[in-house]
Amino acid sequence: METVDYDLVIIGGGPAGLTAGLYAARARLNVIMIEKVAPGGQVLITDLIENYPGFPEGISGPDLTDRLVAQAKQFGLPIESEEVQSLDLTGPVKKVILADRIIKTHAIIIASGASPNTLNVGEERFKGKGLSYCATCDGPFFRDKDVVAVGGGDTAVQESIFLTKFARKVYLVHRRDQLRAAKILQERALSNEKIEFVWDSVVTGLDGFFGVDNVHVKNVKTGEVRTIKADGCFIWIGIVPNGDFIGETLKRDEWGFVITDAKMATSVPGVFAAGDVRDTPLRQIATAVGDAAIAAYSAEHYIENMKS
Ligand SMILES: Cc1cc2nc3c(=O)[nH]c(=O)nc-3n(C[C@H](O)[C@H](O)[C@H](O)COP(=O)(O)OP(=O)(O)OC[C@H]3O[C@@H](n4cnc5c(N)ncnc54)[C@H](O)[C@@H]3O)c2cc1C
Repeated sequence: METVDYDLVIIGGGPAGLTAGLYAARARLNVIMIEKVAPGGQVLITDLIENYPGFPEGISGPDLTDRLVAQAKQFGLPIESEEVQSLDLTGPVKKVILADRIIKTHAIIIASGASPNTLNVGEERFKGKGLSYCATCDGPFFRDKDVVAVGGGDTAVQESIFLTKFARKVYLVHRRDQLRAAKILQERALSNEKIEFVWDSVVTGLDGFFGVDNVHVKNVKTGEVRTIKADGCFIWIGIVPNGDFIGETLKRDEWGFVITDAKMATSVPGVFAAGDVRDTPLRQIATAVGDAAIAAYSAEHYIENMKS
């Protein structure tokens, strides 16, 4: 059998990767996690998590990250700070390609998560200058200012409510006439006097000199165009998978999310996926960690079979 560097490589250190790492390290697999930014993933930019079981008071994203990392490290999970560039999945030994070396492994768990969608209205120029995808990170800069938030799902509504702690007013622009968010979040947002809903509308552009000064909005039903004077614009309109490194070998859905079966196995034996990167009806911390436990368990069995 060709030699390998590790039994298992976990790509990504969000809740899915850290949970897979915890399970794999406890199973005494020869495992490594590769994370390109910092462990925590999207949780790091989340203010308050109210729906992760076991924390009735809620928990902040950074606090939950600290706990996940501590628990995985307690069982000896090595975490390396590198970006996976590509994968070679052609042989029984898989290759994980980094900038300066290639790691050979029996199995891989892809837990690279997802990133926020962009509006494609030239917002690149305003990133860090009034345009943001993270209320926790940037909300405090907008104390007593007016901001626009875009979206209608859980994240958009939860984060808009959070923004009202700082902002004077939050215009919540949504392309439909009702929200998709959980009912409890809808109730809170609809009764929040600082939030003004701009229904049936899309953002068509931003302008400003040093940063965002105006957000241009169009009503998709009437065609009416409106300019909202605002110092900030927060965008929460869904996500795209972090999957550029995956290549063409694995089956993916039309948006690029990795297709798995109930054991989190992908179309290539020995390659598993967990969390937001996979084709799943719900992208949350609870679902990511559940996926990851199954993926690690499946990977363990795959590796045992390889070796026997
Ligand atoms: C603002 C916001 C608020 C949210 N609020 C909640 C909430 O209240 N409750 C809830 O349950 N969920 C919430 N979510 C969703 C939740 O954060 C995600 O579902 C969860 O983080 C998914 O975990 P993951 O591990 O699959 O992916 P991610 O958290 O996206 O982590 C993926 C990791 O992989 C790394 N990575 C990517 N590509 C590579 C590569 N090539 N090489 C190495 N590393 C790589 C990334 O740097 C990242 O750290 C929120 C999300 C956001 C953005």
